[in-house]
Amino acid sequence: MSAASSVAIVGGGLAGLAAAVALGSADRAATLFEARPHLGGRATSYPLNTADDNSTTIDNCQHVLLRCCTNLIDFYRRLGVENRIRFHREFYWIEPGGRTSSMRRGLLPAPLHFTESFAKLRFLSLADKMSVATGLLAVKYEYGKRADLDSLSMLNWLREKKQTPGAIERFWRQILVSAINEDLEQMAAAHGLQVFYLGFLSKADSYEMGIPAVPLADLYSEESWSNYPSVRIEHRTTVKQLCFENGRVTGMMLGDESLRQAGAYILAVPFERVAALAPGLPLELSAFSHAPITGIHLWFDRPVTDLPHATLLDRTIQWMFNKHEGRHIQLVVSASRTLTEMPRADVIELALKELKEFFPRAAEANLERAHVVKEVRATFSAAPGLESKRPLNRTAIPNLFLAGDWTQSGWPATMEGAVRSGYLAAEAVLASFDSPRRFLRADVA
Ligand SMILES: Cc1cc2nc3c(=O)[nH]c(=O)nc-3n(C[C@H](O)[C@H](O)[C@H](O)COP(=O)(O)OP(=O)(O)OC[C@H]3O[C@@H](n4cnc5c(N)ncnc54)[C@H](O)[C@@H]3O)c2cc1C
Repeated sequence: MSAASSVAIVGGGLAGLAAAVALGSADRAATLFEARPHLGGRATSYPLNTADDNSTTIDNCQHVLLRCCTNLIDFYRRLGVENRIRFHREFYWIEPGGRTSSMRRGLLPAPLHFTESFAKLRFLSLADKMSVATGLLAVKYEYGKRADLDSLSMLNWLREKKQTPGAIERFWRQILVSAINEDLEQMAAAHGLQVFYLGFLSKADSYEMGIPAVPLADLYSEESWSNYPSVRIEHRTTVKQLCFENGRVTGMMLGDESLRQAGAYILAVPFERVAALAPGLPLELSAFSHAPITGIHLWFDRPVTDLPHATLLDRTIQWMFNKHEGRHIQLVVSASRTLTEMPRADVIELALKELKEFFPRAAEANLERAHVVKEVRATFSAAPGLESKRPLNRTAIPNLFLAGDWTQSGWPATMEGAVRSGYLAAEAVLASFDSPRRFLRADVA
């Protein structure tokens, strides 16, 4: 194929990879340029010690999905790796002191599938449970119908629904801060309702939590691309700037000063990188800000838990993931602004102290190693009012397209949102070449 009919994709995160898979599925020649040595962007893994061939590989941070992430699952299927995602039906909630409740679907059809286990949750009082039930009913009636959900904060929506403090702190906040990576005070209600509508109410299995059984980067390995011979990937290749002439992109300058040309260009980089690559593109980038995530890896000399994962109530740490036999534990704190300035040693001390409150066996175990990953720019903050500022995948330049979790994907900053944006960008590119194709799958609703 000639350069005029080929596509250049800048960025090998999930948005760029999804665009590449879609274009490859349409047999369109595409070259993906990724600055780093590995693919996956923020959803990747890397060796802890690059100088050591036997070094432990860790994920940038634990990444999970729900079954309602229909496009992400489709992307894994197209790469032939969907069987490397293990889905879990049971959610565990632990209170300080160790009392554990679990939630799983029962025999009733959606949206009543949690009724049985919800009634048995021990960390909510009866009044909290009644409050949550009326809140969920309101989600069902208002999601997708009420016009002001993007301008309202989730906390204000919950107050409007007269939710009890227990329901807000131990149920809504516990789930949503991790799902959206933002505090309830700073999160648009539209996103909060979406999580519960799609993940908890729409289908009985849509809440099931998928956890990759392999390091994240293995999901996008070379072998996965063998089905897409029209796609080329160039690692360690930084794009410095796009070149414009007569209202079109005419090429890209790479870090080594060489010029690359294609018929269409997809910029699949985070929002803070766009202005440097395509100055003058009319985007409302100042509306975006970041929300951080902190991951803490702890390696013990013996197992401290048998649970595969759990959400931890009333403390800084929100989630525990059992990475290996209860000895390698990963803890996650979303919207972790209180930890970003804290010295790493203090973060580890805090994590250990809290872990012992939930898992008494941690008090007897010896910590062999610890590693803290602070992602200050983990996601964009899903603030009220932002939705209308997220750009579409088409731009004012006819052969320039955008992808990335921050574009108008219909989802917050998640792997599903990134894949959706990549599919949408590929659809727009193919339509511009007069060979339209559909890749985006509908939400489960
Ligand atoms: C710690 C953490 C935990 C998370 N947990 C979850 C989770 O559990 N579930 C979930 O769904 N989501 C989670 N997310 C969010 C999810 O990872 C992101 O929304 C998604 O991966 C974003 O993909 P993207 O392709 O839009 O951007 P990115 O992943 O940022 O990809 C952009 C790529 O562009 C490359 N690039 C940038 N500039 C250039 C250039 N000039 N030339 C060439 N390449 C360039 C970068 O190297 C990068 O690979 C988490 C994110 C973080 C950081």
